[in-house]
Amino acid sequence: MRHAMATQAQATRWSHAFTALGCRPFSTSSSPRSSGLTINADRLNETLHHTCQWGAAHRYGSDPTETGMARLALTDDDVRVRGWFADEVKSLGCSLKVDQMGNMFARRPGSGKIKAPMIAMGSHLDTQPRGGRYDGILGVMAAVEALRTLQENDYKTNFDVGIVNWTNEEGARFPKSMVSSGVWAGAIPIDQAWDLADVFHPAATIKSELQKHGYLGDVVCSSDATRGVALSAHFELHIEQGPILERAGKKIGVVSGAQAYKWLTFTVVGRDAHTGTTPLEARSDPLLAAAKMIASSHAIAKEHGALASTGIVKIPANSSTNTIASRTSFTLDIRHPEDSVVARVEKLCLDSFQHISKEDGKGVSVDWTLDTDSPAVKFDRGCIQAVEAAATNLVGRDGWLPITSGAGHDSVYTSSRCPTTMIFVPCRNGVSHHPEEYCSPEDCAIGTQALLDAVVYYDGVKGGAAA
Ligand SMILES: [Zn+2]
Repeated sequence: MRHAMATQAQATRWSHAFTALGCRPFSTSSSPRSSGLTINADRLNETLHHTCQWGAAHRYGSDPTETGMARLALTDDDVRVRGWFADEVKSLGCSLKVDQMGNMFARRPGSGKIKAPMIAMGSHLDTQPRGGRYDGILGVMAAVEALRTLQENDYKTNFDVGIVNWTNEEGARFPKSMVSSGVWAGAIPIDQAWDLADVFHPAATIKSELQKHGYLGDVVCSSDATRGVALSAHFELHIEQGPILERAGKKIGVVSGAQAYKWLTFTVVGRDAHTGTTPLEARSDPLLAAAKMIASSHAIAKEHGALASTGIVKIPANSSTNTIASRTSFTLDIRHPEDSVVARVEKLCLDSFQHISKEDGKGVSVDWTLDTDSPAVKFDRGCIQAVEAAATNLVGRDGWLPITSGAGHDSVYTSSRCPTTMIFVPCRNGVSHHPEEYCSPEDCAIGTQALLDAVVYYDGVKGGAAA
């Protein structure tokens, strides 16, 4: 069924599905923002689950689709779905390039009037070891459905339009997330990426696995048009991976960017002492101080609408129940869409921690390092406008929400090299990186329609201006 063209019956059913969802049926009439193209929701759903046969794992229900996924990058299952993808895009009239990181670039020719790189729809086919059927996979399958829709309608875009499957986005097998879009964007040296070892079997590296499976392509992994594969724009559909859209009852998140974050490590030093013989005022207790610091960071973040989290706390391995610990270290991860708010929360935390270090007993000393400083990413205004237009046409102005990405995505790297944005769709209970990750067929379809419409809209605006 996966090669079947949309039938009239399917199109009608789809139109009814939209109406049932309270969405505007997509019209072929003269709306200036309408592509006049309708994706096939059933075909999208069938294809998504068809390709999840490669890597299906962690069954949680009786329906054939009620499993999670374990499709780690460059494993046999990943190679099988890559093979399917290559055959599929070729059958849709695309050329296919594979670069030195195994990134796959499928390109469907446009009208030929514009000499510019393709407009891409990109995401990833690899998953977490206990992942689900939608994170990344939906973005690629939606892009395939968008190209099928263009193809069966014989629709000529101004630009070439295509798909990117980015390698090892999850960083689950080779421990660096978004590593291949990072190399493409010039942010990560390729040798460093190639040398990343499999976390379970360190004898295998990204490079050895690319070689083994025939995915060490001959195209340079670069956004430079003369050596690698340049893109005119990058659009990525993704599940939200959080609860905001679902709670707000919205169908589409128009993503304005990715939030800023800073990671710090604090070391608090005191003195070991007997818990039974040392009065409270004579103590220098680093674990007590660290606990108060963590609580304080939470209060400060809350006050500023930011996030502050401690994921690691360490005390000496030889600590004991009846001894005050001699030192404690802990991490702090601060996040907010605005760089200035992250900086303000960091400053207030540092002030507060100094204060806390003097509060109890004889006090403690506190020291820190800044480990990561990742400024906020703002996506491209023109791409965002294309998504806003598509979303408004599809679900009305009240059906979508501007949103900031809380997680990293390949789009964060592409945005440094070409106009980029993302589209989010709700996922059940905000759950992801879990076998029960779920996005309803209706929401997958709405996201896919928005992706196609946004690309066609952007192609029309930019293509019209360039022609
Ligand atoms: Zn993802």
